[in-house]
Amino acid sequence: MRSSQLSFEQGPIRPPSEAASLLLRFTRNCPWNKCTFCPVYKNSTFSRRSLEEIKKDIDRVVHIIEDIKGISWSLGEGGKITSSVLQEVMMRSRVPQAYYNVAQWLFFGTGQVFIQDANSLIMPSAELAEAIAYLRTKIPGVKRVTSYGRSSTISRKSLEELIMLREAGLDRIHIGMESGSDRVLKYVRKGATARQHIEAGHKVKAAGITLSEYIMPGLGGKAWSEEHALETARVLTDIDPDFIRLRTLMVPPFGSLWEDVLSGRFVPLTDDETVKEIRLMIESLGDIHSTLTSDHIRNLLEDVNGKFPEDRKKMLTVIDEYLSLPPEDKILFRLGRRGGALRSVREIQNPMIRLRLEKAKRDLERELGQDVESIIGELAAQYI
Ligand code: SF4
Repeated sequence: MRSSQLSFEQGPIRPPSEAASLLLRFTRNCPWNKCTFCPVYKNSTFSRRSLEEIKKDIDRVVHIIEDIKGISWSLGEGGKITSSVLQEVMMRSRVPQAYYNVAQWLFFGTGQVFIQDANSLIMPSAELAEAIAYLRTKIPGVKRVTSYGRSSTISRKSLEELIMLREAGLDRIHIGMESGSDRVLKYVRKGATARQHIEAGHKVKAAGITLSEYIMPGLGGKAWSEEHALETARVLTDIDPDFIRLRTLMVPPFGSLWEDVLSGRFVPLTDDETVKEIRLMIESLGDIHSTLTSDHIRNLLEDVNGKFPEDRKKMLTVIDEYLSLPPEDKILFRLGRRGGALRSVREIQNPMIRLRLEKAKRDLERELGQDVESIIGELAAQYI
């Protein structure tokens, strides 16, 4: 088999919930690319891929699956993708990244496929439906197909088009809603209004596609924090999406938002203020049935999650546990969380963990000659 048949094109990112998904690139980069908080595609130009190119990539995935199954047979694993097969693939130094992705996908066996990049919903619906149907037919074991999509794009599609996409096999759309406040959306150049978010959200649900809305705590800064929380809660209550996902603002060190930070026009929230903003938003959500997840590494509190309405109190309790910590414990928790050593607020009560964090704080302050707040800020910045 020619080596060109053992690779295919992939883009740079996927949502955290698609970590075990097969990544297939239907379009390149972001057709909007103007959001001031988003560093991902800033040096890249959007381009479409032809249906022929996409189908060729899908065919290559099929070749790779056959190749990996061949490795399994040669190792005596009977075509199963076991840890020995994965290890064998990992040890092959000249294997392309896309090949690894397929091997891991087979090993984890999720059957999930994520369509890259930022807004492949911009493809003509018939073409997108054909590409999804093709991958569903050709690649064995696909159980779920997911894509990012922009509200402005989706609101321009008809319900019939979205139903066609669902019938072709599109199961879930992740929308970067970020905020329900028109003032915040305009300020960060999201290119979508609250009304478009609501329209797109309702349409996705009406088509029978699972809807996941990403929102961005902190995006209104100090000036619009309350409005951001309340308006986001209002729009989410109207939509009642299947999932609400938190992805806290971290300002990239370039572009207009960064310039506003430097000039004082935009004052970012502290960790505590961000947590209080999330609390206000959760408290203000109406009668919804969404599942809220905090699965992004940028979020300070990972265990704020659950299903509405029954878990609202549990989510608020996690937040209150953090807010009621003594100041020194908050610092230790934030240091541990931003350094990747802690996941849950409750871990800070463990005496061994506390001792380790206290030592790490003393060592870092001495070695770096910085105060602990600067150290936490630098640790957090690695997640931008
Ligand atoms: S639409 Fe999404 S990917 Fe594009 S610039 Fe905005 S946040 Fe970034």
